[in-house]
Amino acid sequence: MEELLKQLNKPHLRLADILPLIQDAETLPYVEVEQKGTSFEGRPIYLMTMGGGKTKLFMWTQMHGDEATATASVFDLISSLESFPNWYRTYTIYIMPMVNPDGAERCTRHNAQSIDINRDAIALQSPEAKLLRKTFDEIQPDIGLNLHDQCPYYQVGKTGYPSTMAFLAPTTDVEKSITPARTIAIGLVAKMVDAISTHIPNCIGRYDDTFSPRSFGDSFASLGASTILVESGAAPNDPNRQIARKMNLIAIHQTIEHYPSLALQEEMTSEIDAYFAIPENKAKTVSSLLINNLHFIGETSYQASISIKQKTRWCNQFYIDAVGDLSTMAGLSSFDASALTFDAGKVHQLSSYTKITDDSLRDWLQQGVIQFQGENALLDNQSSYTLFYNQPISANENALVLNAPAYFLMRKGDSVVAAVLNGQLIMLD
Ligand SMILES: [Zn+2]
Repeated sequence: MEELLKQLNKPHLRLADILPLIQDAETLPYVEVEQKGTSFEGRPIYLMTMGGGKTKLFMWTQMHGDEATATASVFDLISSLESFPNWYRTYTIYIMPMVNPDGAERCTRHNAQSIDINRDAIALQSPEAKLLRKTFDEIQPDIGLNLHDQCPYYQVGKTGYPSTMAFLAPTTDVEKSITPARTIAIGLVAKMVDAISTHIPNCIGRYDDTFSPRSFGDSFASLGASTILVESGAAPNDPNRQIARKMNLIAIHQTIEHYPSLALQEEMTSEIDAYFAIPENKAKTVSSLLINNLHFIGETSYQASISIKQKTRWCNQFYIDAVGDLSTMAGLSSFDASALTFDAGKVHQLSSYTKITDDSLRDWLQQGVIQFQGENALLDNQSSYTLFYNQPISANENALVLNAPAYFLMRKGDSVVAAVLNGQLIMLD
């Protein structure tokens, strides 16, 4: 299985990616695999069962088709279970990997009916939601792990750190009561955060706890399972979210290790305090790249920071997200441009075949060229960057345009010393 696990280091996973792992898991003496049902379009949805203990741990992944990180983690778990002596005497572990294989195929959140399965926990109009609920009712788990991915642009409170992992012990009512089952879930999150903090200090958030009865986490918590929402997020230079993949595995290991004693623990004050001390996730306050305090020189001179984001995790298009005082934002990477001035860059009209390499690109940028126009066949891009080629030109030479492709130059005096090319920062000095 180790070789197959390495192949899950990808930005996205579809059913075909996990079928070999399911087949391989089936050969393990402690894993039982059953096709539990089918998706709207007839793709199989599996349930893997292992162990024979009294405590029932149920986890499910990728009910949002474009959230694949934890799907890799549950297979990591299967191959690592043997490091827990006697786990099978304590636990029966149930895993439903990829609840939404149709969405996974298309790389969309929704299923093939365009239904958000995680808003279908009451209406149960999608076959996937029906199946998840039926499986839950059959198992009646003590613990539910609801494994998702979150947008890369969450910040841990106002700390300046991206939320690489976020946790929630969902509420069961609008009053946000702390029921006995929720208390155990809170205790488990405290243990998870404890262990994960040593790997990604500061990068752990607490997910919004507004009661959301249409969601499965809240619904299963209301049915009495100690339920935890785990959200895998972004980290710098980790496009395939392998850091979050590993942190999920640690979180699951912590569950296995600590549930039996937490379930018996009479008093949970310190865990509850630790849980509520985790800073809340703040949406839309992190950028892919944050350029701080760049000067714009012209008739009206000003200084502004620039937030650059990626259109989606899977398309290589970066755009200008915000301009101005962005002191409440953090960047997956950031750059101090307070000594530099903005330059929109020039357009170069191609008249003959031009090959661009990393070296020649640096020359073009230093000469102030940011964009090429001409017949497609004339430009031969052999550089490692996405070039600005034949795209509409932004109107203003002394201002950035929101939502426009993220391309511009930065000068120190007469010299171009840095460039942003499709959201990538290139240093030229
Ligand atoms: Zn999700």
